Amino acid sequence: MKLKEKLSSLLSPIKDFLFPLHMECTLCGEEIPSKKGIPLCESCVSKLPHIGEKRCLRCGAKLSTESDFCETCIRTEMCFDEGVSLYEYEDSAKKLVLALKDGHAKYLAPYFGELLAGKIKALGWQIDAVTFVPLLPEKRRIRGYNQAEEIAKAIAEHLDVPCEELLYKKKSTLSQKSLSFEERQKNLIDSFRAEQRIRINGKRILLVDDIKTTGATLSECAKTLKARGAKSVQIASVCSVTYHLFFQQ
Ligand SMILES: [Zn+2]
Ligand SMILES: [Zn+2]
Repeated sequence: MKLKEKLSSLLSPIKDFLFPLHMECTLCGEEIPSKKGIPLCESCVSKLPHIGEKRCLRCGAKLSTESDFCETCIRTEMCFDEGVSLYEYEDSAKKLVLALKDGHAKYLAPYFGELLAGKIKALGWQIDAVTFVPLLPEKRRIRGYNQAEEIAKAIAEHLDVPCEELLYKKKSTLSQKSLSFEERQKNLIDSFRAEQRIRINGKRILLVDDIKTTGATLSECAKTLKARGAKSVQIASVCSVTYHLFFQQ
């Protein structure tokens, strides 16, 4: 064996490790070409509960009626202006956001970010800065990252605007999971504060979270940003719970 061939055969495992040709689909484990940069196989992508054109004009949740707004937005006044989501919060989409949140599948954030940025561009939204729903500092420390921040950074990169940390969680609110719709809203009142050192006044802000359930958290964050003079607050989330799902739980 010539020296060049010998070197190449010696280095190939290192090359495969550094630049793998294949990766595994996050949902089904099937091998997929890594050059596509999509962490899912085509079959799993096609089965995701995509939210299409028919979405709530306020929060972006999937609509199954002829109304322009979902039942949550009809019942509740939301402080954000408009929203967009990729998927309904069910089946495989639920598995994906939970993998990003609790399974350390941080590599999913750039994928979701690119898809959301594509939707935002198609909608023609004008955005000056991207921000995200904050975690309590100790929660962020334990997880090592804030999944909403990771998605926000990816969206900002594609929209070519800055990603700014504009919000902080002010007090330890009870976990929203166990609360009813009304309790969730009460629990959140004045629970966020805005960054004082960055100018928010007059800016058109995009606020990002991984999952939008009732929209109460996003609305409270939008209220805080608007109190500091934000011109508009649009919201983007990977998943959105539709009204009937939430109230059946
Ligand atoms: Zn798959
Ligand atoms: Zn809605």
